[in-house]
Amino acid sequence: MLIELGLLAAGAVAGGAAVWLKRRRGSPEVVEPGPTDELRAVLDTMQLGVTVTNPDGMIIYTNPADAKMHGYTPDELIGKPGSVFAPPTARKTVTTGELPNLQSWRREGMNLRKDGSVFPVRLRTDIVRDPTGKVHGFVTICEDITDEQRVREAEAAGSLHDPLTDLANRTFFLELVSRAIRRAERHGDYHFAVLHLDFERFKLINEGLGHDAGDELLTEAAERLKLAIRPNDVAARLAGDEFAILLDALRTPGDAGVVAERMIAGLDAPYAVQGREIYLTPTIGVAYGGSSRLDAEQYLKDARSAMYSARSAGRNLYGVFEETVRRRATQRLQLETDLRKALDDHEFRAVYQPIVDLPSGRTVAFEALVRWHHRDRGVISPVEFIPAAEDTGLVVPMGWWMVEESCRQLTAWRTEFPGAELAISVNLSVRQLRQTRLVDRIVELLASSEIPSSRLKLEVTESMLMNDADAQIAMLRRLREAGISVVIDDFGTGYSSLSYIQRFDFDVLKIDRSFLPEGDGPEGWDIVRMIIGLARDKRAAVVAEGVETEHHANKLRELGCDWGQGYLFARPLDPDAATARLRAEFGNR
Ligand code: C2E
Ligand code: MG
Ligand code: MG
Repeated sequence: MLIELGLLAAGAVAGGAAVWLKRRRGSPEVVEPGPTDELRAVLDTMQLGVTVTNPDGMIIYTNPADAKMHGYTPDELIGKPGSVFAPPTARKTVTTGELPNLQSWRREGMNLRKDGSVFPVRLRTDIVRDPTGKVHGFVTICEDITDEQRVREAEAAGSLHDPLTDLANRTFFLELVSRAIRRAERHGDYHFAVLHLDFERFKLINEGLGHDAGDELLTEAAERLKLAIRPNDVAARLAGDEFAILLDALRTPGDAGVVAERMIAGLDAPYAVQGREIYLTPTIGVAYGGSSRLDAEQYLKDARSAMYSARSAGRNLYGVFEETVRRRATQRLQLETDLRKALDDHEFRAVYQPIVDLPSGRTVAFEALVRWHHRDRGVISPVEFIPAAEDTGLVVPMGWWMVEESCRQLTAWRTEFPGAELAISVNLSVRQLRQTRLVDRIVELLASSEIPSSRLKLEVTESMLMNDADAQIAMLRRLREAGISVVIDDFGTGYSSLSYIQRFDFDVLKIDRSFLPEGDGPEGWDIVRMIIGLARDKRAAVVAEGVETEHHANKLRELGCDWGQGYLFARPLDPDAATARLRAEFGNR
């Protein structure tokens, strides 16, 4: 999570700084709004270091955190080369001509303080370009990772790692798989895979050449494994010659096969041990993880049995745990069949979660959330069935039903509570956003239900805007021209940078709940503060999701967040409960 936050910060600041750079140079082509005091305030209070250098590598800005981290005051650094932060051995010159296709680069290393001491850092540099591609400067985000490093070392010394190969050990691996399972339960589109790997005839080598040779081989194999995986994946040694790999955040399940093949290719090459050339034959079993209710051990078992069947089939390759695939495929098929009937059988219901005005505590809107009352399985969460509904296209009629139902409910509330000036927020799916008739249909619906268009808000997620941006920009514009508010939902989770999001027009930014810190201390609010600043730049309102504690509400109020939504105020309510809440608040006329 820490890394994700770091990336968001880097992207957002890089975008903001680009505008700022252009203004400092007094360039006449600048039409965008300049940085606000909020943005400056964010840079001043941020824990991460931010340094801006010009195309010649000279520092033109550094925030207080960065200066302090390196033992300087910001003024001392202006005009110095950015390389003052690098120990002499690590200095290297990059000319702008060498950067034709590069957007940014990341690295970990040691940085130099003014007093000559060094400390570990994680760096990300973004290149700021003008629309013609000319380099205007560089923005570097610097994070002191001394603590993280200490944890890493402690882990390595402690019981989480395998001493021989330095890979994760079994205990640690199972813990990481459990985390992936929890994540998959929360996010329907998160997929992972557990791979089990071992070597054929390894015992023979151990017995024939001795354990030292065996250990040497295992160490070398572990190194090769590390090369085959991505930074977020985890390789572990379970015991003897048994390894396991967790592939994190797979785009498609098929990607696990690609990694497995890459591993096999890497491990297949001959090993030089004690003056001999030795070949190892790896076999890999794959178990895919999704939102099913297996535990970590079970995934490992599935992967291992896939490996055995691949081996007994005589293939020096990998096998996929058929049972998992089959089970999941049948489950999915069943879900899709049931989904088709759900609409006709009236199994969808809308629940409504209040959105309150933070300064006054007044209910100003409700977010409509769909629930599926399955006849056998009870209430199914949208996290579980929206992905299937997307794939089958059923999300379109279901989503349309939600829009109609929400408008019907709003009309009823407007009649009963005319003074309340309520709005309703409805989630849209990608497929819906692509419907050419969407805007017309909504406008017709609003007219027939006598709802002013400003009372309807449509939520789209940041990740929906990542593909096909031009078409989406046009669609959002049409919605806004019709007077309907556009809300960017789950903001901050889609990895888009400020400069990317600047291209879209929207009325409200909704801060994803993962950005609200858990404890009740003052720290951890940098990102929220930055998002609020960003919304101000775009003249958009901000709503925070997942407000669970009084501390959240107070802090958000203090930061100037407009609205809040979360369990502190209310869980999603069925229509009767929502109406009861309104009666208590606005009185029964
Ligand atoms: P979302 O639009 O970001 O909705 C917010 C989710 O956060 C809801 O989960 C809500 O119950 C939950 N939540 C609200 N306050 C809190 C809190 O204080 N703490 C915690 N931990 N959670 C809180 P829900 O209802 O399960 O919906 C999940 C997602 O499913 C929604 O995320 C949305 O992306 C999607 N979804 C829901 N209804 C619809 C719909 O009608 N159409 C479409 N396309 N998607 C929908
Ligand atoms: Mg939403
Ligand atoms: Mg959300």
